[in-house]
Amino acid sequence: MVGMISDNIAMIRERIESAAKKSGRSANDIKLMGVSKYHPLEMMLAASSGVDILGENRVQEAIAKRSGWPEGNATPWHLIGHLQRNKARKALEIFSVIESVDTFDLARAVNVILAESGRKGYPVFIEVNVSGETTKSGVGPEEAEQLAGRIMEYCSAVSVEGLMTIGPNTDDTSAVRRSFERLRDLRDSMRDGLGLELPELSMGMSDDYETAIEEGSTIVRIGTGIFGPREYK
Ligand SMILES: *Cc1c(COP(=O)(O)O)cnc(C)c1O
Repeated sequence: MVGMISDNIAMIRERIESAAKKSGRSANDIKLMGVSKYHPLEMMLAASSGVDILGENRVQEAIAKRSGWPEGNATPWHLIGHLQRNKARKALEIFSVIESVDTFDLARAVNVILAESGRKGYPVFIEVNVSGETTKSGVGPEEAEQLAGRIMEYCSAVSVEGLMTIGPNTDDTSAVRRSFERLRDLRDSMRDGLGLELPELSMGMSDDYETAIEEGSTIVRIGTGIFGPREYK
């Protein structure tokens, strides 16, 4: 299992390298996240030295895994799934970044908890539903700038550092590309509009990460490609 995981990671790193080259970028500017949802702690541990970030999308599952996580293992965890306000406190203990902020109320709840403990500059990304598919969370592209602006104004312990999206669920690669391009354009216009750097673009999963890299992704989130298929219980 450990061997399979490190072989998969090595292969993905090579493909990241070629996709970066193809678009005149450096692979050093692209972080690899291993998305470990539905996979056991042992597999996360096996991947942790080969990836830059681990990603989980359910707080409950992450709490259970985190209790067995060795203190000396510094690989950061990012939350990439929907967060309910009543789980925000736990999420802030476990995750270095919440990539899935999509309402002002959630950002404010996070801010209150951070302020209580004097934490500052906690990084969040705004999740944007570029494709408009109703099954996806995230704000619409036309609402993202306003949300980020309100967070900047009213949530002083929170730092908006990027945008995250899930590509459209289609085999049409040009539609996938347009969607990533749209997130990048949105980032550029939010940069100008808000004077925010927004250095991170979290986009690209197992089936579309090379396209995402060509369109400017800085974090690719790979589950199946590293860990194999998930078993939903
Ligand atoms: C599950 C998940 C991934 C990884 O998906 P794969 O197709 O298995 O690579 C990436 N991002 C989010 C938000 C996810 O929920």
